[in-house]
Amino acid sequence: MPEYSICGEHYPLTDRQRALLGQVRTLGRERFAPRAAQYDRDATFPFENYDDLRAEGLLGVCIPLAHGGKGADFATYALIAAEMGRHCGATALTFNMHVCSTLWSGPLADDLDMTAAERTGHEANRRVHFARIVGDGALYAQPFSEGSAAAAGKAPFGTTAKKVDGGWLLNGKKIFASLSGAADYYGVLCTEDKPEASVRDTLYIAVPGNAAGFSIVGEWDPLGMRGTVSRTLLMRDVFIADDAQLMPRGVYFQAAARWPHMFFTLAPTYMGIAQAAYDFTVSYLRGEVPGTPPVRRRMYPTKQTAVAEMHIKLEQTRALFLRAISDARVDPGKEARLRVYAAQYTVMENANDLCRLALRTCGGQAMLKSLPLERLYRDSRCGALMLPWTAELCLDRLGREALYEAGEVDA
Ligand SMILES: Cc1cc2nc3c(=O)[nH]c(=O)nc-3n(C[C@H](O)[C@H](O)[C@H](O)COP(=O)(O)OP(=O)(O)OC[C@H]3O[C@@H](n4cnc5c(N)ncnc54)[C@H](O)[C@@H]3O)c2cc1C
Repeated sequence: MPEYSICGEHYPLTDRQRALLGQVRTLGRERFAPRAAQYDRDATFPFENYDDLRAEGLLGVCIPLAHGGKGADFATYALIAAEMGRHCGATALTFNMHVCSTLWSGPLADDLDMTAAERTGHEANRRVHFARIVGDGALYAQPFSEGSAAAAGKAPFGTTAKKVDGGWLLNGKKIFASLSGAADYYGVLCTEDKPEASVRDTLYIAVPGNAAGFSIVGEWDPLGMRGTVSRTLLMRDVFIADDAQLMPRGVYFQAAARWPHMFFTLAPTYMGIAQAAYDFTVSYLRGEVPGTPPVRRRMYPTKQTAVAEMHIKLEQTRALFLRAISDARVDPGKEARLRVYAAQYTVMENANDLCRLALRTCGGQAMLKSLPLERLYRDSRCGALMLPWTAELCLDRLGREALYEAGEVDA
């Protein structure tokens, strides 16, 4: 049976995008999918997958060509991340954390306002980060969650950075840090330690995993996305040099306001899971899933109706996903801003719903741990919980921003 492409067969792809998608699809099918069950069972990080990504030059996929990367833009990244999510959700989600540190400090930062001195400093700093990734194969994590209102963008981060001679002194705690123990650097979002600091004073700083005062604590035994190994980070007077900033002071705040699609990068993983649940269902009902008896169930009208419903939901999800990634830019209009909240909500909720429908349709034998569907189901449950755009917060933003223009208040 022909396999669907993640973006649909006639989606306009450049040669470069097609090549990257093909590269990730081959890796995903041949390497990541066969290993996924073990990482999930043991809740261990997919190191072997990262060795493959490193060997294929994909750790630098969004690093500009001038810095030795593959120069992929936002939409290209979203497509390949969705393809990866079809094969191993935990690899795609952790890849997102790594890639965002290059996407945000790379092409996104180029769209933002900086003084000439900030731009020069940023260029020098990111050259160091990019070289570590392209040259040494370094991995970056992206810990911002703290269990407070900060990761939702509604309060300053509790993790603080105090300016000292030659750098910063970091103190605080991050929860759910994917790639904990696997990353070489942790792109920590924190607040400058100064009087009356606000969300505008957010700093984005790369902390080496071997820095004095930095430690990883706690258990990791979650429902889904088990291979992300998202444990707790503690920082006690960690000294970080000035050039470790991934963005100049205040630029993260500007990015969050002016480049909102930067937070849509969690969605592609779950778009891939939605596609995988649908693919599995079709194969299963055709009696074609490897390792299962060749029993066909496709002739039953109830199965056909269920697949039709899944197909409609998948196409609705994909349509909004593709539209949102094509909208992504600096200073999008109000419609695009509202649409990306709708897209995030739709991808996260529908991925889980498609997995639910897949399990109901395929039946009891399909939920055994020897098959991928029950893992897809558990992994898909995590998407709507991820800050800053949880399903709840998307509704919250969508409702408020649809009804109020910027600065409007009720008398
Ligand atoms: C598999 C996995 C991997 C993750 N990896 C990372 C990572 O690498 N880096 C990282 O930083 N985080 C990561 N996270 C964390 C994630 O983004 C959330 O921060 C995390 O799930 C914490 O959720 P919580 O329930 O403690 O949130 P809480 O703050 O307790 O919020 C609970 C819910 O309340 C709502 N809510 C929260 N704040 C507000 C508010 N101010 N106003 C209205 N409603 C609000 C939201 O809907 C939220 O889902 C990961 C999470 C998962 C599940």
